[in-house]
Amino acid sequence: MMNQLTQATLTCPHCQATEIISVDASDSKQFHQCVQCHRPYGVSKNDCCILCSYGDVLCSQVDQNLAS
Ligand SMILES: [Zn+2]
Ligand SMILES: [Zn+2]
Repeated sequence: MMNQLTQATLTCPHCQATEIISVDASDSKQFHQCVQCHRPYGVSKNDCCILCSYGDVLCSQVDQNLAS
């Protein structure tokens, strides 16, 4: 199955909990709710998605991973 998914680690800005999420490169996420403190967090200004704000990879890197 050619599934256009990969994984990234998000770090919660409130409690610093880390969470591995599945990332779809065609779907830029704007909000995420922390599994630990259950507080939602959104994209910082100047960033395009929560991956770029809080993830260990940028969404552009996800695209490169899929291409390689
Ligand atoms: Zn949290
Ligand atoms: Zn992004």
